[in-house]
Amino acid sequence: MGRLIFIILIIVLVYWLFKSYRRNLPKQEEPAKTQDMVSCAQCGINLPKSESLFVDGKYYCSAAHSRGQADK
Ligand SMILES: [Zn+2]
Repeated sequence: MGRLIFIILIIVLVYWLFKSYRRNLPKQEEPAKTQDMVSCAQCGINLPKSESLFVDGKYYCSAAHSRGQADK
């Protein structure tokens, strides 16, 4: 019985270490947030500049919005 408690204790400890490790991960993703964000001139959604379409001095999220067409 004592051995079972010891095994459970190790599982809990490993789980806790894994959780604290995962919690520290988002810090590595921060450089991506510094990427320029633009908002679609048609629907106003925010998206990375690299994924946007630049048409007639405005940023759009999709080709359909760059043509001035709203969703549906
Ligand atoms: Zn849009």
